[in-house]
Amino acid sequence: MEIGVMFWAGRDQLTEIKALGVACGQLGIGGGVTLTPAFLAEWKSALEREQFRLATVVCAYVGESYADIPTVQRTVGFIPASTRAEREQRTREVSDFAAALGVPGIGCHIGFVPDDRSDGDYLAVRDMVRRICDHAASNGQTFALETGQEAADVLLRFLDDTGRGNLKINFDPANMILYGTGDPIAALEMLAPHVVSVHAKDGDWPPRGVAGSLGTERRLGEGSVGIKRFVETLKCIAYDGTVNVEREIEDRTQRIADIRAAVELLRRLHRQ
Ligand code: MG
Repeated sequence: MEIGVMFWAGRDQLTEIKALGVACGQLGIGGGVTLTPAFLAEWKSALEREQFRLATVVCAYVGESYADIPTVQRTVGFIPASTRAEREQRTREVSDFAAALGVPGIGCHIGFVPDDRSDGDYLAVRDMVRRICDHAASNGQTFALETGQEAADVLLRFLDDTGRGNLKINFDPANMILYGTGDPIAALEMLAPHVVSVHAKDGDWPPRGVAGSLGTERRLGEGSVGIKRFVETLKCIAYDGTVNVEREIEDRTQRIADIRAAVELLRRLHRQ
């Protein structure tokens, strides 16, 4: 496995990420980013200059908010019906952007997949994911769903129902905890054959008795994931992709310092 960083266009500079001592990662494209030829050329030359490899381009969308669980349900990914068409189009454009950079995969949060397989939203999202998978396949890419907003068995059944060989999983252990959807280690073992990329993020469970509340993100190693056991499990399942440090706090300086410390922690655990 190789240690990398999850970073965002418009928020992070590639030189700053490379200075953390990594040479690979995942590039996030926010909904507000305009995918012009100049933007593509800028990233192409930056990646060449820094000798940096992107494992994934991650797609986020205009109008998404992660404030609390009901807001996530209402705004994130492919679940909100009113934005499905524009987000499908945007995902195709991000796939094409990634292909032009030679990136072998795209990913996103598709939002909360309903438990009920006959639910209209479930069927519409399944069909949308099939179409995006087919578009990604035409670009030689995988399409990875990020874990956390549903339990591992629901995600596994959704993969099975979708029936596309290039549909994969971006495994984020902290999300399983932040959304209260299950033990991340057990989930990783269950989803292992489908995991194409990994986030190294930590967090604590939602507070008891506060409905709809999310847990709290923590510095890597300071939350409830159990990062040592997580890395051991990655070794156990013979995971050979990238492990990308993700830190989502606003404070820029603190965020970069936390990412640096997380990269060092992962290096130590990887060697053990
Ligand atoms: Mg993540």
